[in-house]
Amino acid sequence: MINLKEFEVWFVTGSQHLYGEETLKQVAAHSQEIAQSLNGAAAIPVSVVFKPVVTTPEEIYRVCAEANAAKQCIGVVAWMHTFSPAKMWIRGLQILQKPMAHLHTQFNRDIPWGEIDMDFMNLNQSAHGDREFGFMVSRLRLNRKVVVGHWQDEEVLQQLGAWTRAAAGWNDWQGARFVRFGDNMRFVAVTEGDKVEAEMKFGYSVNYHGIGDLVQVINAVSDGDLDALVEEYATTYNLADKLKKGGEQHSSLRDAAKIELGLRKFLVDGNFKGFTDTFEDLHGMVQLPGIATQRLMADGYGFGGEGDWKTAALVRAMKVMGAGLPGGNSFMEDYTYHFDPKNPLVLGSHMLEICPSIANGKASCEIHPLGIGGKADPVRLVFNVDGGAALNASIVDMGNRFRLLVNTVEAVAPQHELPKLPVARVLWKPMPDMKTGCAAWIYAGGAHHTCYSQNLTAEHMADFAEIAGIEYVLIDQDTRLHQLKQELRWSEVYHQIKG
Ligand code: MN
Repeated sequence: MINLKEFEVWFVTGSQHLYGEETLKQVAAHSQEIAQSLNGAAAIPVSVVFKPVVTTPEEIYRVCAEANAAKQCIGVVAWMHTFSPAKMWIRGLQILQKPMAHLHTQFNRDIPWGEIDMDFMNLNQSAHGDREFGFMVSRLRLNRKVVVGHWQDEEVLQQLGAWTRAAAGWNDWQGARFVRFGDNMRFVAVTEGDKVEAEMKFGYSVNYHGIGDLVQVINAVSDGDLDALVEEYATTYNLADKLKKGGEQHSSLRDAAKIELGLRKFLVDGNFKGFTDTFEDLHGMVQLPGIATQRLMADGYGFGGEGDWKTAALVRAMKVMGAGLPGGNSFMEDYTYHFDPKNPLVLGSHMLEICPSIANGKASCEIHPLGIGGKADPVRLVFNVDGGAALNASIVDMGNRFRLLVNTVEAVAPQHELPKLPVARVLWKPMPDMKTGCAAWIYAGGAHHTCYSQNLTAEHMADFAEIAGIEYVLIDQDTRLHQLKQELRWSEVYHQIKG
């Protein structure tokens, strides 16, 4: 599983030698106290590591170079306790490759009205020291997150925590490998995209293997492993009678388990963080992977159906970002609508591959015909999903840039029995309302595939887009269609100029 505490963000405080050694000692002591407090904050899932106060261009350059090289370091939190003339930061910031948050805080929360003197003023200068630093970052046109408030303020901790989660997702992509079994579903547009550009922009690589490479590994699965996994299915899920030992389709359950074992081995051996498959390319496979994909997603692997590698990578990043939070993240598709004007809903699902991390209880393990692909009936997990705040996210390739599109939604608890629907499903209302939300998504070119998240917010996603340096379009309770269409047009011009 993913443990975010093993990753570090470095707490770097800027100052200068103008104030004498005594002040610098106090600056260091205060910074240490803040770093320690952030490190212990429940809202911040990663380790926060204090770094010695930097006071010269050389020290600043060195700490940025060290941050770049340190494997566990996923980002830098910068703070100017005093005034740190920002020309000193130019070379350091120019080489910094790790995400940056600028914590605009002050050691003392309150002004000590009866005691305040010039010593206090000289020590607590972030109100203007951080502005000098902020100018330099803006002047260099660097992306960062600015978080404002006292360092013990719960909202500040939440905002920093969200950024560390986004930074962890970003870090996970750097050097990540995603494997595609086969190509995209024939003629489908939105699942296509520029894999070279994606690797340059996002840091992950996407390569294909013929399905035969996977089939070979599946066929080599041992009987002992197979027996054990079939047993695990029986104890973990509500197994349909015909899949039970002695049941008429028990052999299909064994086939499904064999696919899971082979797929898992292939992913582990190849050090892959996610995969795609397609029902159009299953030569040598007995069934389309259903339960296998669902369980692999639950273990943190990214997945995209029909060759959708962008969504597979996004699902993986969002699983990393949400690690340790209640609720889950799943591959998703807007499947079918309920257009009742009094209660409009989207039913989200897929042919099979919804992650049980979002299930509202014990899943049923069932087998049903698929209807497409011409293979044997696939085994799948079927479940419902709870109501509550959630979101759908999609990355599309607009030709000259990638766009991250997010629609916040209100998930709705199941209102009806669905005795004939043989797949896991979610019901939700898109924000700000059904018609506006769906139209906005379509105007923005959002894919039919998404990552559905119960535990990430628009803030996590905005921070992620900021770190990635890609376009971010949010459809939420404040979205107005006219305004959104203008935003898309202006954004087009901006990206033409930005290049
Ligand atoms: Mn699909």
